[in-house]
Amino acid sequence: INTFIEPYLVPDGSKELNENLKSMAASFAVTDDKIREIIIGFHESMKTGLDHDDDNALPMIPTFVRGRPTGKEKGTYLALDLGGTNLRVCQVTLNGDTTYSLVQQKFTITQEAKESHLWDFIAECVGVFLEEHGLIPAPGERTIPCGYTFSFPIFQTSISSGNLSMWNKSFTVPNSVGRDVVNLTQSAFQRHHVPVEVVAVLNDTVGTLMTSGYSHPDTQMGIIFGTGTNAAYWERMENISKWKGEDRTGEMVVNLEWGAFDNATRVLPYTMHDNKLNRKSPNHGLQVFEKMISGLFLGEVARNAILSLVDQRLVFEGQSSEIMNKSYTFDTAYMSQIVADDSSDLHVVKTVLESTLDILPTTLTDRLVVKNVCGMIGTRGVRLSAAAMSAVLLARPELMESEISVGIDGSMYQFYPNFEQDLYKVSRVFLGEDFVDNRLKLHLAKDGSGVGAAIVAMTVDRDRSI
Ligand code: BGC
Ligand code: MG
Repeated sequence: INTFIEPYLVPDGSKELNENLKSMAASFAVTDDKIREIIIGFHESMKTGLDHDDDNALPMIPTFVRGRPTGKEKGTYLALDLGGTNLRVCQVTLNGDTTYSLVQQKFTITQEAKESHLWDFIAECVGVFLEEHGLIPAPGERTIPCGYTFSFPIFQTSISSGNLSMWNKSFTVPNSVGRDVVNLTQSAFQRHHVPVEVVAVLNDTVGTLMTSGYSHPDTQMGIIFGTGTNAAYWERMENISKWKGEDRTGEMVVNLEWGAFDNATRVLPYTMHDNKLNRKSPNHGLQVFEKMISGLFLGEVARNAILSLVDQRLVFEGQSSEIMNKSYTFDTAYMSQIVADDSSDLHVVKTVLESTLDILPTTLTDRLVVKNVCGMIGTRGVRLSAAAMSAVLLARPELMESEISVGIDGSMYQFYPNFEQDLYKVSRVFLGEDFVDNRLKLHLAKDGSGVGAAIVAMTVDRDRSI
């Protein structure tokens, strides 16, 4: 049996349909050998990126974060977490005993903000939060220090500044690339009279790493498998050859920006459905790895693949719907629901297709085809995710001799069926059964990006707990 193909064929399907599913499954397959090739590619790219900034390699961004959390940090801090979907404003209390709690308000980032007035949007949300939680300082009191998690690539120039390298996740705010995002945010705070001072800026993967490290001191890596994907890990200073600063002792967190893997090489197994998505995206040719793994994109790859079957009249009697014909309407959350549907009549799949996407009517075979196509694409995503995680851990083999934790957050990790279990399963092949079964611990670092911002802010400005 070819496990990359057989499970996706449909018993009642025509020969032509099954031939199509067969070649589709083959095109989405990521074999063990392919993963080995990807791991080698990662290692080369990581090494180059640590040596010098190179558009053809992973960015490997030094983060200026050098001290591991101990779990004893204590105090209340303001944290902002700008993600790809939401802005969270949080008041985080670190209890000093490896536990924390937070009060947070979530604002969905409007399309308008993603395309133009992001900085004003952020300032307005922070203003609302301070107001509603009675945090506005009295006249003459100091401004409130805050940790700022920024889920886009910035080249950091200090712990509290960094220039935006590019937008992704479909953000296109003008006049921002190349500029210091803390400055841009801080100016908006001034315009809106928001009494907050950003004292630390960090990537969301760094936040996840720090949060996980607060509760599990053996944390070596933080990963986001969410709207976008990326990771950060502890690297020895002596390995960060491009670091120009004086002190070269100890360790620093490095932000890989692994979504950019393969931008210049061609190791990944692209299908025509990926190419179609890529060609139509605002960051064409960039973040190509992310486009195969993360929540913003998987549904769109699936939509392209399903439509290719519609066009050949192999499903839905060749009929699509207005909704289904529009880009990004097939949400990755639907994929999760569809793949999880084990009912005999696939009624969850039916509801998604018929009620949500307006495709009428569907047969049981149609629904099974859709479930299988989603399965192929989801499985590819999990296997590539495991490949990336394995590559980073294998780059520091000495760590694998003891128990280690990896902190993970994001919608794919939390909601895609069996994601964590499959990460363990696939990693066993490359990291070894003994290590994965006995020493590797994956933890959900819930709200990690916000809590991590508070932890880093506190290391910078210990005396200004609010
Ligand atoms: C961004 C990263 C971020 C990741 C997860 C990617 O699109 O480039 O900076 O860490 O998404 O949110
Ligand atoms: Mg986030």
